[in-house]
Amino acid sequence: MPISSTNPATGEVLQTFEALTRQQLEEKIAHAAEAFREHRRSSFADRAQRMMRAAEILENEKQTFARTMTLEMGKPIKAAVQEAEKCAWVCRYYAENAERHLRDEIVETNATQSYVKYQPLGVVLAVMPWNFPFWQVFRFAAPALMAGNVGLLKHASNVPQCALAIEDIFKRAGFLEGTFQTLLIGSDAVQTVLEDPRIAAATLTGSEPAGRSVASIAGKQIKKMVLELGGSDPFIVMPSANFDEAVSTAVKARTINNGQSCIAAKRFIVHEEIYDRFEAEFVKRMQALRIGDPIDEAMDIGPLATEQIFKDLEDQVQISVAAGAKILTGGRRLNFDGNLARGNFYEPTVLADIPKESPASCDETFGPLASLFRVNTIDEAIALANSTTFGLGAAAWTNEPEEQRRFIEEIEAGSVFINGMVASDPRLPFGGVKHSGYGRELAEFGIREFMNIKTVWMK
Ligand code: NAP
Repeated sequence: MPISSTNPATGEVLQTFEALTRQQLEEKIAHAAEAFREHRRSSFADRAQRMMRAAEILENEKQTFARTMTLEMGKPIKAAVQEAEKCAWVCRYYAENAERHLRDEIVETNATQSYVKYQPLGVVLAVMPWNFPFWQVFRFAAPALMAGNVGLLKHASNVPQCALAIEDIFKRAGFLEGTFQTLLIGSDAVQTVLEDPRIAAATLTGSEPAGRSVASIAGKQIKKMVLELGGSDPFIVMPSANFDEAVSTAVKARTINNGQSCIAAKRFIVHEEIYDRFEAEFVKRMQALRIGDPIDEAMDIGPLATEQIFKDLEDQVQISVAAGAKILTGGRRLNFDGNLARGNFYEPTVLADIPKESPASCDETFGPLASLFRVNTIDEAIALANSTTFGLGAAAWTNEPEEQRRFIEEIEAGSVFINGMVASDPRLPFGGVKHSGYGRELAEFGIREFMNIKTVWMK
């Protein structure tokens, strides 16, 4: 089946690619295995020099890369430029810190000498999503390559141009051919690759069903995996919070990347003392967002990345409303004339009075849809925040130290941000608990995921 790149703002097919044949796939895997033998022996200094070069390419050509992202998956162009810059940051971070994170660690025992040594595992398969088409890949690739592993990327089928551009960046940065390759394959070919004995491990960022499917293959093969899956992050606002900052951050946290982020705030849990004011202000600000062609720098929101994502969001809203939820604003397709007539534009939407079992309360919603909830106490807020199968991130707004302590202690999530919005940062670990996945990316935790943590004992 050909893999195609379609502009979600216009419906225009930009380019199509033939998927790899069985023979071409075999050649790429063989090439990766061969590259590992050499790459693992290269010095940290050598790898760092190349990784720094990758950062320079990303920065120098960020406008070009941003355009590719925006045209393929519809994120606002300003955000796409920032994404390219963030990729340069993670390359620099690991170029500067990989050696320190992976240095031998001496442990005093009854041996003459004993220590822990970190060694790369080999070829790592990365199955990646389209929503941050550069960032998701770089946050895997920068630590993997710096650690001496090599990468095979199976990117989401709607972003082949981004996938090829990333392969090209690592080539131009001077990494040995085969160290990082893109596999233009459909999801049905993942099993074949993962079962290949030359693949040492895998990482998947994507939806829960994809995670279950790939993790079960990895499980059968006894291969290490990292899973970064969905989220339904709570954003809690208590009476002592800085109200203006909380409400403006809430809008940003929900609509970042057209609402298609795993760590976007999805459920807004607001204390009844400030609920009515929050609801009115939040709705006003959602209505003020500028929606249109994401290539236009003036736009805050573009189209949803595919027609299927649009339909899924539309269904979630309709089912929630049929169950009793109230639409405060939005809830419809936005129709444009001219070249945007076929775009997947969904109006920023706010729901309230949401029944417990409805999709707007229980499921991950991937688009500009905010669910508002009113609570009377901090106990209720924490219970509601935790009443999800997901556990990726959480934001809580309060200036009461005791409330801050309780949110940090009691919220079941991979991260808790107090008086801020959940975001990733190369210096801090990133990942989830419960159905949001396992393992960590970024910081020293991320680079150590695909290593043999070897014990050395000598007498
Ligand atoms: P997706 O449909 O699960 O796809 C993700 C990747 O998995 C794609 O490369 C896809 O390939 C592949 N895939 C899908 N089903 C598969 C299967 N059964 N076997 C093997 N591979 C399979 O997710 P998405 O729509 O691209 O991304 C959105 C999801 O990713 C959301 O749930 C979001 O929360 C999550 N996400 C999580 C994080 C995090 O760090 N926790 C970050 C970003 C996104 P095809 O495109 O060829 O189907």
